[in-house]
Amino acid sequence: MKNTYDVAIVGGGINGASIAYQLSKLGRKVIIIEKGELACQSSSAAAGMLAAQAELEQDGPLFQLALKSQAMFSSLSEELFEATGIDIELTYNGMLKIAETEEIAEEVKKQVIYQRKWDPAIKWLDANEIRELEPALSLNVAGGMYLPNDGNVQPTKLSKAFAKAALDFGAEIREYTEVLSFLFEKGQVTGVKTTHGIIHCGQVVVAAGAWAAELMRGSGLNLSMYPVKGECFSIKTEKPIINTTIFSDKRCYFVPKRNGEIYIGATMVEHSFDATVTPGGIAELTARAVHIIPSISNAAVMRVWSGIRPQTGDGLPYIGEHPNWKGLFIAAGHFRNGILLSPITGILTAKLMEGKLNKDPFLSAFRLDRHKEMIF
Ligand SMILES: Cc1cc2nc3c(=O)[nH]c(=O)nc-3n(C[C@H](O)[C@H](O)[C@H](O)COP(=O)(O)OP(=O)(O)OC[C@H]3O[C@@H](n4cnc5c(N)ncnc54)[C@H](O)[C@@H]3O)c2cc1C
Repeated sequence: MKNTYDVAIVGGGINGASIAYQLSKLGRKVIIIEKGELACQSSSAAAGMLAAQAELEQDGPLFQLALKSQAMFSSLSEELFEATGIDIELTYNGMLKIAETEEIAEEVKKQVIYQRKWDPAIKWLDANEIRELEPALSLNVAGGMYLPNDGNVQPTKLSKAFAKAALDFGAEIREYTEVLSFLFEKGQVTGVKTTHGIIHCGQVVVAAGAWAAELMRGSGLNLSMYPVKGECFSIKTEKPIINTTIFSDKRCYFVPKRNGEIYIGATMVEHSFDATVTPGGIAELTARAVHIIPSISNAAVMRVWSGIRPQTGDGLPYIGEHPNWKGLFIAAGHFRNGILLSPITGILTAKLMEGKLNKDPFLSAFRLDRHKEMIF
């Protein structure tokens, strides 16, 4: 029947595309429904860091999820290149998590000891050693944690590679189509109502990023989610001024990309769906950035942009099935780490939807009903 699929994926960001790839590889008939264009929201605003250890300082389900996903990038990059010809620009250029005061240095040194459990190559660099590695760093930098095995990707290319690989396995993508609500029958989801008509399907997965909670409200779930806007800019210099990704606890990072640009991010504006880039946001970010690498004040600004991160009340993404409606799944709420988490999100969500992980204890931390008050 026309407009009938095994699975409808709501949202064509990096997570929707990754899930589509995994499901269509398994032979499922999949459609991605996207209200704008593929990867038009957070997934194209990201810096593409794969910063499990720099972003997540505590062990726990999210940290373990991030480590597993991080380890998948090398083979994924080859797999997607072979399948689609798209180079996701995976670059293992290392990362420096810097400390700008002696007090923060003590904290970061503790993280070094802790993180070496997962990667013995991680080490502390003192003020002299860190400037030997990256001479452009200001004298304010007291030292830092060096993660030589860290890397980054080009997030839009990764989203497009997932989507193209899914298309090659028979998936369809419908852009400029918004999902308005779900259709249910006898405790089971049967389709979605969109701005361009009804789509029938046996399963739905909501991968709608920061917009997921609003849509899920129509299914009786009150997920604890909120948007966090982030503004960025990029610069280019005649000669490269840094090679390593530099990450400051003061909400500022520098990510050198393959094309010579350095992405500098990012502000954190909670509860804002307004993607406007403001002079105030860029000024605040520039002040922090110049404090860390003074020579960037003479660089050419290439672009400014913003994106909306999907945050959850407890900081963990939602990956699971609706507690009351069979066949309705969600994979959203990846906050600052959705690019890093996209490979594992695709694999786990596809397995869940195939009924292969229902009782997996690892996934219980990400269940939709982990807080009982979420269900109306
Ligand atoms: C400035 C910034 C920097 C970041 N840097 C990094 C980084 O370095 N590393 C990292 O791992 N992560 C980073 N992130 C986080 C990462 O970008 C997100 O976690 C990730 O992109 C979320 O992907 P997603 O597919 O879940 O959501 P999105 O990319 O937001 O995709 C959701 C899609 O759903 C669509 N949609 C919503 N509602 C509907 C509907 N009703 N019907 C149809 N379509 C709908 C939207 O249009 C959107 O395209 C950053 C984010 C920002 C903003």
